[in-house]
Amino acid sequence: MTIGICGAGTMGRGIAIASLTAGHSVVLFDISEAAVEAARSSVMEQLGKAVEKGKLSPEAFDASSKKLTTSAELSSLRQADIVIEAIAERLDIKHTLFSELEKIVAPSAILASNTSSISIASLARVLSVPARFVGLHFFNPAHIMKLVEVIKGPRTSDEVIQTCVEFAKGLGKTPVVATDAPGFIVNRIARNFYNESQRIVMEGAAAIPQVDDLMKGLGFKMGPFELMDLIGVDVNLDVTKSQWAQFFQEPRFTPSLLQQQYVDAGLHGKKSGGGFTV
Ligand code: NAD
Repeated sequence: MTIGICGAGTMGRGIAIASLTAGHSVVLFDISEAAVEAARSSVMEQLGKAVEKGKLSPEAFDASSKKLTTSAELSSLRQADIVIEAIAERLDIKHTLFSELEKIVAPSAILASNTSSISIASLARVLSVPARFVGLHFFNPAHIMKLVEVIKGPRTSDEVIQTCVEFAKGLGKTPVVATDAPGFIVNRIARNFYNESQRIVMEGAAAIPQVDDLMKGLGFKMGPFELMDLIGVDVNLDVTKSQWAQFFQEPRFTPSLLQQQYVDAGLHGKKSGGGFTV
């Protein structure tokens, strides 16, 4: 298949690598020329590392290189069988993109969002054929993490869900079909991991490294602050805000002032070179 990916940032790149190594052709699109260029080098660098580690053959590397197209033109997604959107976590921006996409892609193409929290129902609202719209929620790093939430909106067809489940399995992933509830499954649970950790730090009950070390001591691979830095402190805050709003400002999901300060200061984590732990 040809997989179109919108947004060549953290998630778009990982989804591109997963799709390429499964043998698909990939068109990776971003509005920013700089992001497109950086994404091509980053994807090829990651694939090169996989060859060095013996996880990918040199032949598969060459094939992937030929199957990757990067572009700053939306029309490059015309041939895609599935388009996976991984742009900013904002309903208005995603609506504009999907309205444009619907005019470009084939009637049979599936439109998917990698949204962490925005309801599939509200994203599909602008489409004339909402049955082909689905949530395909990969986890970071998308080429490594096995879990993919396949989210069925109220108007998503069963056929589209089935195709996406098979697609995710073909990438070597473990798909879990989730209903369209705020934060779906994983992010709803994870909000407490991030929010409570920040409350602890703001109260002075423990310092950031202590919280991370303790959680790792319990068996978590990463502490909450390291993980927010990997995800992107800005992206993580947008997800919290969106989930809090969808739960009618439920107090246990209230966004953290500490995180807002980091975002305001441009400390967006690993990708920005500064954050809670970097
Ligand atoms: P990011 O900030 O790393 O990258 C977003 C990219 O989208 C940027 O390159 C930007 O130039 C591009 N972009 C913005 N508007 C665009 C548009 N209209 N058309 C095309 N490109 C556009 O963001 P990310 O961390 O990759 O997150 C993307 C999506 O994936 C969000 O919805 C986020 O909630 C979700 N998500 C993120 C993570 C994570 O850990 N970062 C995990 C799961 C899901």
